Amino acid sequence: MIAYGGCTEPGGMEPADERWEASCPRCGEPAEHGRVERAEGSLNIYRTVACDHCGHHEGFDWLSP
Ligand SMILES: [Zn+2]
Repeated sequence: MIAYGGCTEPGGMEPADERWEASCPRCGEPAEHGRVERAEGSLNIYRTVACDHCGHHEGFDWLSP
């Protein structure tokens, strides 16, 4: 299980996924934005937003495998 949001795992393989904190487009509070790369025939790049404040959620579902 990889714990996101913490420090980089030492010695671990870094996925191409990126996450950063930016303001939520809906409520303006800090939300988790992300960029996920998935090889699905071609390389697809998803942009995501997940806000804990208002529940706003866009794009790729982090919780789905
Ligand atoms: Zn929000």
